[in-house]
Amino acid sequence: MESDCLFCKIASGEINTQFLMETDDLVAFKDINPLAPVHVLFVPKRHIRSVNDLTEDDGPVLSKLIFAAKEMARQMGISATGYRLFFNVEKGGGQEVFHLHMHMIGGWE
Ligand code: 5GP
Ligand code: ZN
Repeated sequence: MESDCLFCKIASGEINTQFLMETDDLVAFKDINPLAPVHVLFVPKRHIRSVNDLTEDDGPVLSKLIFAAKEMARQMGISATGYRLFFNVEKGGGQEVFHLHMHMIGGWE
């Protein structure tokens, strides 16, 4: 855990946040500033700064993020209408919180 990291604090429960999903490896919660009717963030509990810092050993946790999103889409009823999954990478890529997270947006009519 990085002491000054917002998503470390959220994932560890230090900052109270309602989780939509929690496993040993990740948490999912609603984005505070949603870009779509459904906007969920999938965050590994372990601190990784960005996609640039991923190693081959992180393959399993990455795959868990995607399967968690697939299950969340099913639970939220947006599987059939569709959704976008994306990572912003570093400042030029629009990343504002430097703890790896995957966005899921969808739920449009
Ligand atoms: P980034 O731009 O780093 O890819 O995405 C960070 C996201 O985190 C933004 O969409 C922003 O709205 C969201 N966010 C920032 N602070 C908080 C917070 O305290 N709680 C929640 N739920 N989302 C946050
Ligand atoms: Zn962190």
